[in-house]
Amino acid sequence: MSKSTKKFKTEVQQLLDLVIHSLYSKKEIFLRELLSNASDAIDRISFEAQTQKDIITSDVSWKIKLFLDEEAKTLTISDNGIGMTKEELENNIGTIANSGTKNFLNSLKDSNKPDDSQFIGQFGVGFYASYMVADKVTVLTKRAGKDQPAYKWVSDGVGTYTIEEAEKDSFGTDVKLHFREGSEEYLKEWKVRQIVKEYSDFISYPIVMDVTRTEKAEEEGGEDVITIEEETINSMKAIWKKNKSEISDEEYKDFYSHLTHDYNEPQERIHFRAEGVSEFTTLLYIPANAPFDMMFKEGRHNDIHLYVKNVFIGNDFKGLLPDYLRFVKGVVDSSDLPLNVSREILQDDLNILKINKSLSSRVLKTLATMKKKRFDDYIKFYKNFGQVMKEGLASDFENADKLKDLLICPSTEAGEDKPTDLKSYVDRMSSEQKEIFYLTGSDLLSLKKSPLLEGFKKKGYEVLFFNDPIDEFIVDHIREYDGKALKAIDKGSVDLDTEEEKKETEEQIKEADKNFKGLKELIKSNLDEDIQEVRFTNRLTDSPCCLVSDESAMNPQMERIMRAMNQDVPASKRIMELNPTHPLVEKMNKIFAENKETAKLNDYVELLYNQALLSEGSEIKDPVKFSKLVSDLMLKAD
Ligand code: ADP
Repeated sequence: MSKSTKKFKTEVQQLLDLVIHSLYSKKEIFLRELLSNASDAIDRISFEAQTQKDIITSDVSWKIKLFLDEEAKTLTISDNGIGMTKEELENNIGTIANSGTKNFLNSLKDSNKPDDSQFIGQFGVGFYASYMVADKVTVLTKRAGKDQPAYKWVSDGVGTYTIEEAEKDSFGTDVKLHFREGSEEYLKEWKVRQIVKEYSDFISYPIVMDVTRTEKAEEEGGEDVITIEEETINSMKAIWKKNKSEISDEEYKDFYSHLTHDYNEPQERIHFRAEGVSEFTTLLYIPANAPFDMMFKEGRHNDIHLYVKNVFIGNDFKGLLPDYLRFVKGVVDSSDLPLNVSREILQDDLNILKINKSLSSRVLKTLATMKKKRFDDYIKFYKNFGQVMKEGLASDFENADKLKDLLICPSTEAGEDKPTDLKSYVDRMSSEQKEIFYLTGSDLLSLKKSPLLEGFKKKGYEVLFFNDPIDEFIVDHIREYDGKALKAIDKGSVDLDTEEEKKETEEQIKEADKNFKGLKELIKSNLDEDIQEVRFTNRLTDSPCCLVSDESAMNPQMERIMRAMNQDVPASKRIMELNPTHPLVEKMNKIFAENKETAKLNDYVELLYNQALLSEGSEIKDPVKFSKLVSDLMLKAD
């Protein structure tokens, strides 16, 4: 194959320009990025070697070797990892695959100061970070496997790169950096050691370097003895195996970034060793931000890296954590699992199930503590991951009580910035309140203003607002809390009265039925298509009417969700409740008494119904007609 010259994708060039011209002071992170790539490449081959017997034919000891050449001003990072085919080389190092890098570019776009060099350190810029210190990078790589050719990729980071077939003895990748002027410090052995210690000490493969030692001649005039020895410069001590007291916050954070390529500080970490039923060590993190694809369950696995006795097995195992905790990242190192197992078998392993139980309960406990002791942090967490957590209520029945306790939401008493939990709600309940009231909907503002709340406000009863789309599905799974049933206030009839009040109410309604009989029938016949019943209520104080559903029917929020999911849902007929003491109802009754044939009455019925729809956040059938009716009314008003 002859040498071909190719252009970088625009986004890559954009990134390269930024990296090259950045004045970022921590240029040394280039080594962290390259070592991390090398370590990932070895992770991959060591895993593949367990399942594909012929991928490597002889024994190899995994390692990453650094070669310093002060004269040529180069540093080579050489790994015996998986290597790359030509296509992989072009796809991986000619485009931007890493989401961290994409975020980085987007944040720069959003930032007012696009050249703010402080910025760069928060992100992993991957392979391209090399160009902060090098004006030319050569990648020599050979994919592991039978008869794989080697390739050489070269670029000065400006516009183009070349690719050609090359010679390489064994599989793996050598990345050679030709340092720019001013970057000579990275040619010093002590400096390289320092950087490795600082950023990559926990890499689980040896990072080695040839170290030259000169022993002075014993006698004067004798020859010095020079020995070159390969020395491992990282401790390889898996961070999760260390004692907590030995690990600094920075190390914890660096390891998190190494695992996830997220360079923000994680919100929480959980580090523990389980002994007894199942033996494993784990270090888990809860990220500070939700990834954009968090809600897509399909094809996603938990990003938990599984090690068995320190050997990396993989990071796409289902089963280590329940789906609803898929935002948790980290490492599990088990000593109970067999090393040479296939993923399928591992999936069903009883030990995995035990680990899952133990991790779930630990994560939930950590969240419970956060909620209790650092509620503001918990609110932040909940904004990011609350929606996913709620899935647990419909799937993890074993932890149902804990999950109910972790639920928070706004209410008539608690604002969005200080939501309430069920326990505090129950604590605030008066002795005469028997149920936990809630209202679902998509828009908090409409919920807060819903006419349905009027009777509850009068009584001093708090109503919870469930305004996440998923709430509609999970609320059925909550059913009760602390022995008190959850009751939707827009379904069925809600009994707020004491025995004494009940009698009075019955009287009032009987009276209204008598006084407004004709009007009630007219409304029902006009709205026959949409309404199954018109009845009087005392749940309203300020509004003339509201719409409720049957106890068993879908409410409008559920109907909207089902339609959004392309489900064919027949519109259910609602119940219209009228407030007999409202002046508008009285006025309509007066008009009815004077002339029940008047067209005006039909318009008013339509306006009344549309108002009720609008105030619960539903759409009205004919907005143009509605506007016209309102305009006509305005014109008639003095
Ligand atoms: P990231 O590592 O964050 O995905 P990089 O820009 O550092 O982004 O690397 C892009 C891709 O190039 C990697 O995902 C990997 O597939 C490939 N790659 C980089 N370095 C190596 C290496 N030493 N061995 C094998 N593949 C590599």
